[in-house]
Amino acid sequence: MKPLDGLAWTNRFAALGPDFFTELPAQGLPDPHWVAQSPACATLLGWPADWASRGDALAAFSGNAVWPGMQPLASVYSGHQFGVWAGQLGDGRALWLGEVDTPNGPLELQLKGAGMTPYSRRADGRAVLRSSIREFLCSEAMAALGVPTTRALCITGSRLPVRRETIETAAVVTRVAPSFVRFGHFEHFAHHQQLDALRRLFDWFVTHHAPECADAAEPPVALLKKVSEQTADLVAHWQAIGFCHGVMNTDNMSMLGLTLDYGPFGFMDAFDPGHICNHSDDRGRYAYARQPAVAFWNLHALAQALLPLMPIATDEEAEASGERLIEAVESFRDRFASQMLGRMRAKLGLDGEHADDQTLADDFLKLMAASSADFTITFRRLSRALTDPEPLRDHFIDRDALDAWLARWRPRTAPDAEPRMLAANPAVVLRNHLAEGAIRAAAQGDFSEIERLLKVLSRPFDEPENPGDAALPPDWAQSLEVSCSS
Ligand code: AMP
Ligand code: MG
Ligand code: MG
Repeated sequence: MKPLDGLAWTNRFAALGPDFFTELPAQGLPDPHWVAQSPACATLLGWPADWASRGDALAAFSGNAVWPGMQPLASVYSGHQFGVWAGQLGDGRALWLGEVDTPNGPLELQLKGAGMTPYSRRADGRAVLRSSIREFLCSEAMAALGVPTTRALCITGSRLPVRRETIETAAVVTRVAPSFVRFGHFEHFAHHQQLDALRRLFDWFVTHHAPECADAAEPPVALLKKVSEQTADLVAHWQAIGFCHGVMNTDNMSMLGLTLDYGPFGFMDAFDPGHICNHSDDRGRYAYARQPAVAFWNLHALAQALLPLMPIATDEEAEASGERLIEAVESFRDRFASQMLGRMRAKLGLDGEHADDQTLADDFLKLMAASSADFTITFRRLSRALTDPEPLRDHFIDRDALDAWLARWRPRTAPDAEPRMLAANPAVVLRNHLAEGAIRAAAQGDFSEIERLLKVLSRPFDEPENPGDAALPPDWAQSLEVSCSS
C-alpha cells in the first residue's frame, strides 16, 4: 500500500549541487514507533487525515525507508555562536528529505535526529525524545499563535539509548518549512571566499523565495532589507507573547523570518526583562529583552556575508556598498519599533493611535516586572479588567500604582476592547512545566498527554477545558532547567 505515492517532489535545493550538501541515507531508528502526529501540519501538506496509518509512513519518518522522490541530504552552513565565529557547522543531525508540492506551495521536509552526517562534528546525530516533544509541540503552538515558524509533522521514537546528562531514548521529528536556509548558509560561502557558490546560493534564494528582489537596483540590498523586516516582525511577535528563543546564533536564524531550531526556548512565567531561558547561556546574551538587539547584530553578520555580491572593486566602492547594506539592516529598527507598538496596542485594546501609547505600554510592563507578574496570565486578566478588574489587581503587589495606571488606560480602550484583547492575548502557551508533563508521561510510554496538549495549544486564545493549562506554574516547575543539551 503506497497511499502517498502520488506525491510530487520538486527538490529545488538539491538542484544547487554538491557544493551545498552531502547526499547520504538516514540512519533509521531501530524498531520505531509513533509518538505523535500533527493533524494541522498534515492539512497544510494536503495529506489525508489517516496518512500516518497508511503505507510505510512510520518507516519513512523514522529514517528507515525512502519514498520515491525523496533525496536525503545534509546541507553545510557556518555561523556565529554566542557572538563568536564558530566556523563550519551544518546539518549535523537534520536530514533534508526533499520538497513536496502542496496546496500551499512547495514545502521542504526534514528529519531531525536521523543519524550522523559529515557535519555532526563530535556529536551523535541523534535527538532525544524530550527535546523532540518540545520542538514538536512548540512548532505547532507557535503556528496556532500566528507566529512565523517551521512546522512539525510528527515524532517517531525508539528504545535506542542516547547519552546526554543521563541516558535517554532517541526520537526523530519531521519538520516542514518552505525553506530551511539560514543566515549561516550565506556566511559559510562568504567566509570561505567561495564567491561562485555564494552567488549561486543568492540567485537561487532570490529566484525561489524572494522573487521581488530580483529586479531591484541592487538585489543584495533588497534581500537584506526584506530579511531585516521579516526578522523584525518575528522578534516583535516573540516579545509580545513572552517567548525566548534561547540560542539566537546566526546558524539558527531563518532567511524566511521563521522561528527555527527549537532548543532551550521558553515562555516566560513571571515577567522579568532579563529572563534567561537557556541554562547554558550564563551571560544572558539571549535574555528576553536582548532578543531584538541580537537579531539586529545577526543581521549585520548577514550583511557582511552579502558584501562580496556588491560592487567592491575599489575601496570607495566597497565602502559605499557596505553603507547601503547597513542602511538595509537599519530598517530593522523602525520596523521592529512599529510592529512592537502595534502588538502592544492590540494587547492593551487601545482605540486608534496616540502619541503616548508607547509610554502607557512601557509603564504597564514596568509594573508587571515590579510584581513579577505572570506574563500570559496578566495580559489575559487585563483583557477582562474593564468589567472585572479584581483578578488582575490580585496579581500585583503595588495596587495603588496599578489603579493609577488603569485610570490612564481605561479612557484609551476601544469600545470592543475585551473581545479584541482576548484574541490578542493567549490563554495558553507552552510553559516548560506543561511540556515537562508530556515528556514525563512519554518516557513511561504514554503519549496521550502530547496529543491532549497539542489540541489545547492549537486553540491558544480559547479558555482551556482544564484550567491548569492556563494557570501559574506549580512549585515543582521552579527547578526545571533547559539547556543546549538535546
Ligand atoms: P544548535 O545549537 O542546536 O543550533 O546546533 C549547533 C550545531 O550543532 C548544528 O550544526 C547542529 O547540527 C549540531 N548538532 C547539535 N546537536 C547535535 C547532535 N546531537 N548530533 C550532531 N550534530 C548536532
Ligand atoms: Mg541549530
Ligand atoms: Mg538545537
